[in-house]
Amino acid sequence: MSGGAATAAAACQVLVDFGTPLPPAGREYLSAALDRSYHLVDLQWEGPAVRLSLAEPADPDQVRQQANRLAQLARTLTPDVRHCQLGSGTFRDDPTPTLTSRGDVTMIAPGMAALAGSFLDLTNMVDRYWRRAAEALDAREEEYPALWPVDLYHRIDYFKEFPQQVLMTAPVHENFHQREAFADQYGKHQEYDTVDSSRHLAPSRAGLQSAVCDCCYFMRRDTENQADRWFTTAGRVFRNEVSPTGNLDRLLSFRVRDIMAVGSESFVRGAQRQMLELAGEFLQRLDLTCRIETAGDPFFANDSVLKNLFQTASGLKYELKVRLPHSDQDLAIGSVNLHQDFFGRSLDIRLPDGSPAWSACVGVGFERAAYAICCQHGPNPAHWPSLNQEVFAS
Ligand SMILES: [Zn+2]
Repeated sequence: MSGGAATAAAACQVLVDFGTPLPPAGREYLSAALDRSYHLVDLQWEGPAVRLSLAEPADPDQVRQQANRLAQLARTLTPDVRHCQLGSGTFRDDPTPTLTSRGDVTMIAPGMAALAGSFLDLTNMVDRYWRRAAEALDAREEEYPALWPVDLYHRIDYFKEFPQQVLMTAPVHENFHQREAFADQYGKHQEYDTVDSSRHLAPSRAGLQSAVCDCCYFMRRDTENQADRWFTTAGRVFRNEVSPTGNLDRLLSFRVRDIMAVGSESFVRGAQRQMLELAGEFLQRLDLTCRIETAGDPFFANDSVLKNLFQTASGLKYELKVRLPHSDQDLAIGSVNLHQDFFGRSLDIRLPDGSPAWSACVGVGFERAAYAICCQHGPNPAHWPSLNQEVFAS
């Protein structure tokens, strides 16, 4: 449940009865959509019904109406499975207590993990593997700021589509009196654990990036003659969500490497197929119980419901879903995304023939991948699969 729900009290209880039970994929989709739309304290499935505890006041009839509308659509979900395998790992516990006690993982605050030791090595091994895959594709490595200027959000309509993910930054108002008032209110001897953004902070010009690849397209905005080209970058992304279990499955800030393809439709469609193959090989080498299947980014407070179902139906987003045996749930450790000409159109990136460029990306989260490895193979490094061979040497 997002946004520090662990400490929030329930303000509103709603039971939504759908009449007949939803299929597992529909349930999963609906749970995620509810979680992203409301500030939930708890969500429990009870046969054909779901019981919601909301931390915010809400009109129960309106919640039921929205949930029912989404459930009708969710019943039609049948994921396209591209890869499915059973790993040989036999570990069944949560590896977090061992990783924590040995000092490899330290939660410095909810959703914020400090890493060290062999777990940090494991995350870096995942990065090196994908960097080598990018090198084999002759991808150009680029480094971007972890910030998105407001113009980037604006041009891709991000605030409207994903408000639940947004984390903006803002300086203290740039005048002496405001700085003095701020300094007084938040001195060492004052009591506080939050900062009131409405009183002292100036309007925001930038936010913390929620994906590493958007800057690649944004920096090519308003250009012509975009050639077929691979790119790669690694960076830190920020998501406004915290794990309900305090684990590494959801963090406010984590590292990702993306490989991107930008260019003509035929080049990018071919690139998406290569990305799916690379993702399958990666999972095979990790010897994990997992699958690669279509997914949407569910959020139902606006019209993106239909867009998401379209996304699922047309195979625009595939997720690398790894089983976590101790919680009997799946964790998405990465995804393959076909943006079609979305960035080309919204950022006006043109091909030599004048039409908008296509793009696609594959991204893998280092912390999530390393955590998934520990969940199935255990926290002992001796049992981890090796990714170190030069598999991409050509
Ligand atoms: Zn991406």
